[in-house]
Amino acid sequence: MIQMNRKSSYAVAFLILYVVLKAGQPSQAQTSSPQAKLSVHWEELTGADFREAIKRSQGTCLLPIGILEKHGPHMPLGSDLLNARYAALHAAEQQYAVVFPEYYFGQISEARHEPGTVAYSRDLQLALLQATTDEMARNGCKKVLIVNGHGGNVSLLPYFAQSQLDKPHDYVVYLFNQRSPTSGGPKKKTTIDEHAGESETSKMMIVRPDLLHQDRATSESGADQHRLNLPDGVYTGIWWYARFPDHYAGDGAAANRELGEYQMRWWVDSVGKVIAAIKADDVSLKLQNEFYEKSTHPLDTQQ
Ligand SMILES: [Zn+2]
Repeated sequence: MIQMNRKSSYAVAFLILYVVLKAGQPSQAQTSSPQAKLSVHWEELTGADFREAIKRSQGTCLLPIGILEKHGPHMPLGSDLLNARYAALHAAEQQYAVVFPEYYFGQISEARHEPGTVAYSRDLQLALLQATTDEMARNGCKKVLIVNGHGGNVSLLPYFAQSQLDKPHDYVVYLFNQRSPTSGGPKKKTTIDEHAGESETSKMMIVRPDLLHQDRATSESGADQHRLNLPDGVYTGIWWYARFPDHYAGDGAAANRELGEYQMRWWVDSVGKVIAAIKADDVSLKLQNEFYEKSTHPLDTQQ
């Protein structure tokens, strides 16, 4: 057996420790490469790193959309975007994608009577969204996934995606409109669970609990006021105001972290799966191009 003095045994111990620690870390070459530390936040990347990010994401970019509107008596005005960005950013960490900065510019005419609502005109909503996805695509985002966090956008966004067929675009707009699972998870306490209700408040408990005022959650009623009775199948714009004039639909006091964790995990995982599917999708753009070409001469389309 080799005898060592105290000094040299310290040196050997130090060397072993160094090797063990080093093995657990990325090599120098990896840490200095831009890919190893690429942020998913568009605004945090340098120009050179942005180019790398687009390559690494296979041109897949996320546009989380929210709104500025009252969320019951207890939630912040920006709740929808805060929640949607949490889901999008965590999903993009799992399945690398570039996430566009804060976008608050959707449909919210129905909350114009409440403080803090920012409601752009119909024309501007569509023009700004088109300009945004066009600019994303010009920068290499050939697959744009809109992650919607706002109930008032559920008609606007499918219309926007559908209307991409009106003239040729060299990119595809995808939309993920769902924010909560339809089944499973902890049992819910409330039956009406919409705007600022049990689910949305529970998610905020995970995202920004510091912004919640749970002591105020029962200071207004989120009950359905049933002020308009029209036959099923008839739609009119005042329906939401008729039912929930205080911009509260449900009971945020029923919220709990367990439900928030379950729903947020579901949202993050779902967006992650959508990103993976979109990266693998080589059909949509091909069909879009075929469609655009054929639509320039419809009389030649076989009947
Ligand atoms: Zn909301």
